[in-house]
Amino acid sequence: MVWRALFFLFFLVAGALAGGLAVELWHFKLGYLLCLVLAMLLWFALDASGSGRVLAYLRDNRTDEPVGIWGIWGEVAQRMHHLLRDRDRLVSDSQRRLQDFLLAFQVSPNGVVLLDSGARIEWCNQTATQHFGIMAQRDLAQAIVNLVRDPEFVSYLASRDYQRSITIPGRDNSVTRPVLLSVQLHPYGEGRTLLLSRDITALEQAEAMRRDFVANVSHEIRTPLTVLTGFIETLQTLQLDVAEQQHYLALMAQQSDRMQTLVSDLLTLSRLEGSPAPDLSCWIPWSQLVGQLQQDATALSQLVTAPQGPVHELVFDDSFDGQLAGNASELLSATGNLVSNAIRYTPAGRRIAVATQLLSDGSLMFSVQDTGPGIAPEHLGRLTERFYRVDRSRSRETGGTGLGLAIVKHVAQRHGATLSIESKLGKGSSFRISFPPERVRLAA
Ligand code: ADP
Repeated sequence: MVWRALFFLFFLVAGALAGGLAVELWHFKLGYLLCLVLAMLLWFALDASGSGRVLAYLRDNRTDEPVGIWGIWGEVAQRMHHLLRDRDRLVSDSQRRLQDFLLAFQVSPNGVVLLDSGARIEWCNQTATQHFGIMAQRDLAQAIVNLVRDPEFVSYLASRDYQRSITIPGRDNSVTRPVLLSVQLHPYGEGRTLLLSRDITALEQAEAMRRDFVANVSHEIRTPLTVLTGFIETLQTLQLDVAEQQHYLALMAQQSDRMQTLVSDLLTLSRLEGSPAPDLSCWIPWSQLVGQLQQDATALSQLVTAPQGPVHELVFDDSFDGQLAGNASELLSATGNLVSNAIRYTPAGRRIAVATQLLSDGSLMFSVQDTGPGIAPEHLGRLTERFYRVDRSRSRETGGTGLGLAIVKHVAQRHGATLSIESKLGKGSSFRISFPPERVRLAA
């Protein structure tokens, strides 16, 4: 301001001097006044041109260019130029940060929806799109209850009590493929709400499996225990002769064997789950394993068939003379389970073929083929579930635990192998384990 006043004064003094000169030299009496007016007009013209250029500079939005205006207006423009540049930097910094935040929200595995004070959608991330079918562009400013219509969610939103989360079915939920979401609302700002959703399908399934497993184990143990307790009471209360006592003791031994097998299978499963998968450092001679299998199979066949009746026709192909990398006891347990199942479910006298075949791609296929009752197609997909049995009483009668095929599948997976099952009702079943080439080595 001081400079501007000095500049004005300079013009006045210059006008007064010029006026004084005009009066002195040319005796022009009005020269003094005229020079003063001319000086003021000149000052005004210069000032107006400066302010006009500043206005044009601002109007044409050339604030990113250097100012190039002289004088006080130049300084005004210069300062504005600096202020605007600093503000632009601030704005672009904030925008970059906002973009970073939004990108972080986008990659979040949880669904995020920002709701305004009227519970209308302001923004949502991709996971929320998958969870609820909300589209960020299309559904902007739509009321959330128009898109998430689950009654529990609607009343939760209306309740304004968001201390707890709720569980609702996801958009893709179906009977065959359930999808469960945990949803919680968090109030923030002025009446706004943050909606967070999490896919808890796997968690719920794991929890349901754990519950089922505990219930199944308890049931499986309780049944023989009840029988045992009954026999103990009988022996304690009744006067039995030696033959009768032997009979009851034999039945008791059967039940305790059953419990032992169950506990042993459970321990095998837990060992399989809690130890690292076998690497390629230990090579097992395949013929040794098959020899052991054949020995066990012959003994089991004799055990499960009538003493004087026919045993099974067991055909073992031991032509593969190579080695397999893995854990010997796990492999014996898996292959043994398949052979034992074939013997237990196939009527005496029928054929059971156990073979090992080296395939052209270098993989090894172990197969057990029986001529038993076969399995209906609707059961095939569930056979490897723990405690799943097609015929519960037949399984129990033959000493089954319902864990055999679960163990086989686990061992196969740990060896990078796959288990495949084919069966036809009334014709028989075929169980195959295919081991990958890197685990197979031919004899030198
Ligand atoms: P289990 O101890 O009951 O045999 P598994 O897990 O080994 O349990 O097998 C699951 C179910 O699959 C069995 O209960 C039986 O119903 C069926 N199954 C398994 N192997 C055969 C087979 N070779 N023939 C017919 N059914 C079989």
